[in-house]
Amino acid sequence: MSTDRVAVIGAGFGGLAAAIRLQAAGVPTVLVEARDRPGGRAYVYEDQGFTFDAGPTVITAPNCLEELYAAAGRPMADYVELLTLDPMYRLCWEDGYQLEYTADDARMSAQIAARNPRDVDGYRRFLKYSEAVFQEGYVKLAATPFLDWWSMIRAAPQLVTLQSYRSVYSIVSKYVQDPNLRQAFSYHTLLVGGNPFTTSAIYALIHALEKRWGVLFPRGGTGALVQGLTRLFTDIGGELRLSCPVEAIETAGGRVRAVRTAGGERLDVKAVVSNADVVHTYTHLLKDEPLVARVQKSLPRKRFSMSLFLIYFGLKGEHRDLSHHAVLFGPRYKELLADIFDRGELADDFSLYLHSPSVTDPQLAPPGCSTHYVLAPVPNLAKNAVDWETQAPRYRDRILDYLEQRYIPGLRADLVTCRTFTPRDFVTELNAHQGSAFSLQPILTQSAFFRVHNRDRRVGGLYFTGAGTHPGAGIPGVVNSAKATAGLVLDDLGVH
Ligand SMILES: Cc1cc2nc3c(=O)[nH]c(=O)nc-3n(C[C@H](O)[C@H](O)[C@H](O)COP(=O)(O)OP(=O)(O)OC[C@H]3O[C@@H](n4cnc5c(N)ncnc54)[C@H](O)[C@@H]3O)c2cc1C
Repeated sequence: MSTDRVAVIGAGFGGLAAAIRLQAAGVPTVLVEARDRPGGRAYVYEDQGFTFDAGPTVITAPNCLEELYAAAGRPMADYVELLTLDPMYRLCWEDGYQLEYTADDARMSAQIAARNPRDVDGYRRFLKYSEAVFQEGYVKLAATPFLDWWSMIRAAPQLVTLQSYRSVYSIVSKYVQDPNLRQAFSYHTLLVGGNPFTTSAIYALIHALEKRWGVLFPRGGTGALVQGLTRLFTDIGGELRLSCPVEAIETAGGRVRAVRTAGGERLDVKAVVSNADVVHTYTHLLKDEPLVARVQKSLPRKRFSMSLFLIYFGLKGEHRDLSHHAVLFGPRYKELLADIFDRGELADDFSLYLHSPSVTDPQLAPPGCSTHYVLAPVPNLAKNAVDWETQAPRYRDRILDYLEQRYIPGLRADLVTCRTFTPRDFVTELNAHQGSAFSLQPILTQSAFFRVHNRDRRVGGLYFTGAGTHPGAGIPGVVNSAKATAGLVLDDLGVH
């Protein structure tokens, strides 16, 4: 077998995107995935005719996906259909206030004016700020690997001018006064695993990104997007191995030589791109490599994002009154986030994200039924304060009761199927350190140069793609990380 081959470990969006770019550039690439399906956090469950996307549902920045098809010389439309959602989200508070969050300026301004006329101008100024950080933080830097201090120093002046040392919430509060609107324009950091009160204001760029390209839905769900990318990879000659956990990355003389699978197979490779959890990669897959001893100690001690508690449920009834994406704010904001991120406590209250994709695509449920998932951000396992074995059924019941009382009358009677996913499952199913849903928290001191580098500087031929490396979590983040990483691999292999 060719030793010019490269292995990508893990078929999450980052792994798929890196594998496609490498294979498209003519590098024989084998994509090795532990689970029985590709997608990683974007796994799919099928229960009694209901199709559940397990993870990402808010699809943004389609251009980074289009680039993958362009690199492979195939039209994206042959693989997946993307529909634009409007509104992008429905935001709901317990006092009954609702905001239909849309990219349409007139409708957005009218809603803000009805809430607090003085915030209309503030919102416009906030969008200008968001556009400026989008240009600097996303357009210029998302796919640029930060491998040395110099790259950080070059980016610093602009990031200082844009006050990236402030938090998203503090920047939003500078422009907008109404407390509900402050929540509406700051909660987005949770989509990439960050507390809005500590996440760098660079992440305010998400507003500009959503406004520019919209929030999209792949017909058939996120699973259809994963299937499209997987088919693209194999259509151009890539080799995909499913149900094939990697046990070790073998090195010799400070260079990667092979990957060893749990089935005992040894794949000789020139380089490895790990899309697996960064702590798992350093401490488990490279456990015998002395060159990474320091990082094996320091990395697990960094701050990891919160985890999530998820309930996937199918209902009788179409429930077309629900929004495709809804954020259901609970009674507390800052204090609830402190319970989750700082105190590591499972609070009595929660804020939820409710996903109801069959509103857009009825094929995801049996006739006359509807598909949903609800998630609650919860502490990761760092403090180990929650016994999920006993808590999960109780927590599930509390959330379902809450939904029934406030948003989906008759939910219990209409329940056809229901499964949960806890922080413990993030560990057992995905090898996620501390059960974190989004890897390292996106705080300034863990971003860019301070994040795990796209190319390891100690072990030759070792690269990373995915949420733990630059630029970070979220589909656009990990697909851009793959662009940065594939570029480094191709440079190092001398492929142009
Ligand atoms: C519930 C949820 C909702 C989300 N919602 C959104 C959203 O709406 N929009 C958005 O943009 N982002 C969202 N995100 C974030 C986004 O899903 C992730 O940041 C992104 O998908 C992570 O991709 P990744 O490339 O890092 O790989 P992952 O998805 O983490 O995949 C890594 C893969 O590596 C495999 N692996 C691990 N160890 C091994 C091993 N030893 N051998 C072989 N394979 C291994 C795993 O099985 C897995 O398939 C959400 C995340 C979650 C959990």
